[in-house]
Amino acid sequence: MKIGIMGGTFDPIHIGHLLLGEFAYEQFQLDEIWFLPNGNPPHKDVTNTEGSLSHRIKMVELAISGTPHFKLSIHEAVKTEHAYTYKTMQEFHNLYPGNEFYFILGADSLFSIEQWKYFREIFPTCTILAAMRDDKDIAEMQKQIFHLTETYGAKIELLCAPLLEISSTTIRKRAAKGLIIRYMVPDSVAAYIKERHLYRGEEES
Ligand code: ATP
Ligand code: MG
Repeated sequence: MKIGIMGGTFDPIHIGHLLLGEFAYEQFQLDEIWFLPNGNPPHKDVTNTEGSLSHRIKMVELAISGTPHFKLSIHEAVKTEHAYTYKTMQEFHNLYPGNEFYFILGADSLFSIEQWKYFREIFPTCTILAAMRDDKDIAEMQKQIFHLTETYGAKIELLCAPLLEISSTTIRKRAAKGLIIRYMVPDSVAAYIKERHLYRGEEES
């Protein structure tokens, strides 16, 4: 099977993540997309919401529940130690030797990947599907893809998905101010955020 891996903090999951998964599924004829919330991400502070991890997982479940080819993977979430992408991908490779893996990411991740721990080890395990995001244009993307391909032998394809100026950070800030987040996240996720009063006490920055 061809499996797309959509890794993220998902704090909260939003339509940018879902569209990336769906367009990767279509463009590369994948069989499944596994949404992989990270438990204790090494590179960023996760909101200190009480029980943040369980909320993030629940929101992923709500968001993907109507799409049979979208699955939740708690592979990283259950780990108490830092979960690194290279390690997860090596483990997936060993656990599911019959599968071919495609790691889906946005431009910001494509440009920071050389800062990830043992990032070189990621490349033999998967094909990277990179989507445009924010102000990175296609020429910059192609230059970075060329650089990673030439330097490390990475396999990278451009993922063509609608450009959406949406981030979890924006959604947290809007929720903190009581502003509308409807249509930026699935209705079920918006309802969950509202019911649980998530992101209410967040500092503005
Ligand atoms: P935060 O603002 O908290 O960093 P985020 O919206 O960037 O949240 P992440 O969980 O950090 O979401 O992202 C997971 C992956 O999804 C990353 O590879 C990121 O580049 C990609 N991604 C998220 N939102 C978009 C978007 N609107 N367009 C393209 N890629 C996106
Ligand atoms: Mg991010």
